[in-house]
Amino acid sequence: MSFQSRYRFTAAWLPDGWRRNVVVSVDPAGDIVDVAPEDVVTTARLVNGAAIPGMPNVHSHAFQRSMAGLVERRSPQAERGDSFWTWRETMYEHASRMSPECLNAVAAQCYADMLKAGYTAVCEFHYLHNQPDGTPYAQSAAMSQALIDAATTAGIGLTLLPTLYQTSDFGGAEPTQRQRQFVLATDRYLDLIDELTRAHAQSPQIEIGIALHSLRAVPPDALRTVLTSLPSIKTIHIHIAEQEREVTASQQHLHARPIEWLLEHARVDKRWCLVHATHATLAELKAVAATGAVIALCPTTEANLGDGVFPLPAWLAAGGTFAIGSDSHISVSPTEELRWLEYEARLMTKHRNVLATQNQTSTGAMLWQQACSAGTRAAARKIGAIEVGRRADIVVIDNSSPLFAGRDEDTLMDTFVFAGTGREVRDVMVAGRWLVQEGRHSAETAIAVNYKRAMNKILE
Ligand SMILES: [Zn+2]
Repeated sequence: MSFQSRYRFTAAWLPDGWRRNVVVSVDPAGDIVDVAPEDVVTTARLVNGAAIPGMPNVHSHAFQRSMAGLVERRSPQAERGDSFWTWRETMYEHASRMSPECLNAVAAQCYADMLKAGYTAVCEFHYLHNQPDGTPYAQSAAMSQALIDAATTAGIGLTLLPTLYQTSDFGGAEPTQRQRQFVLATDRYLDLIDELTRAHAQSPQIEIGIALHSLRAVPPDALRTVLTSLPSIKTIHIHIAEQEREVTASQQHLHARPIEWLLEHARVDKRWCLVHATHATLAELKAVAATGAVIALCPTTEANLGDGVFPLPAWLAAGGTFAIGSDSHISVSPTEELRWLEYEARLMTKHRNVLATQNQTSTGAMLWQQACSAGTRAAARKIGAIEVGRRADIVVIDNSSPLFAGRDEDTLMDTFVFAGTGREVRDVMVAGRWLVQEGRHSAETAIAVNYKRAMNKILE
């Protein structure tokens, strides 16, 4: 007991609401072992500020941070306008410049930025398995290891999702030259999952899940083999219906929309996370809600790519739950993702406070709470609440900042989510370790030096 660390937060957001003078005890393994509200007796280190649970970021392609801001100029060959598909060409170009060293440096910077913004865990949807020409690395897990090392350097909790990618389109179309970097045969993929799962079975900060890139990139046979070979995997992610062209192609080749096909051919359950269910019908949403699967929304990326707007009010009405991801990392801010969700709903319905509920009337609190709770499921880790038995992943908001003047805890999350500039996140603890203090990440100087060196190489 004497090895525990104890912190007294002037305010903390617990599962049953805001409480004052909350003492949180953390064991040396990084788990919360006691939460005592209104405690003024216990000796504990005082942390002035409002403690909230850290946010899981459930959809990340860390390497894409290297191209943020470089694809916002009209391309000369885009006669019919730029689109997701023209953006993808630049993305492939950046992918082809990623060595394990570059990927490690870019991911470490991206993860440190996430921590400073209030994300304390990330699900990395990882498909850069091979060398750019498609040749496997001598160490088959070299690129996975680069990401694991980056998460360790930054200190963020990681759910690594090695991603199966085999075809360039529906109907078994051969991968293009560029896509060979992403391709693994099914047996090699299963070997990689096995190797990583064994290596990290005892790491509380690392979980190994799986991802199926999309129905475009994973043929039905491979999908079936992987799912039947890994019955006890804890989380399964898939890009499901991001682009209208993808839905049409699915109807042509599989005679069903992607979500329809998936529900017919896989036993979708609570372990599943459907990323970008952007183009879903109401019937599909109801059917997915019945499975308990999480839908991951990445509104800043979906907007940046011109994907379309997900019908979130209808999904919530069907009983569905959502998590958030920063995906391409055009923005690395949970508050920006969350406010976009509400603003999309307001623009669609011409109402305000659309996503708040009778039980949770604060829109900001509803958004943070739901994304934390569904994000925890998608990450398959014990995070997402300030509660005994969870990892001690805590974000401290500087409620002495002028932004919060005259406000109490009841309006804190609304003010933070809708009016915050991002600088309100003052301290961040992950698994009991303070990684961000006074807005600075403990390793940010070294991480930035490596990142700049890598970017010079990538953009050479
Ligand atoms: Zn994605």
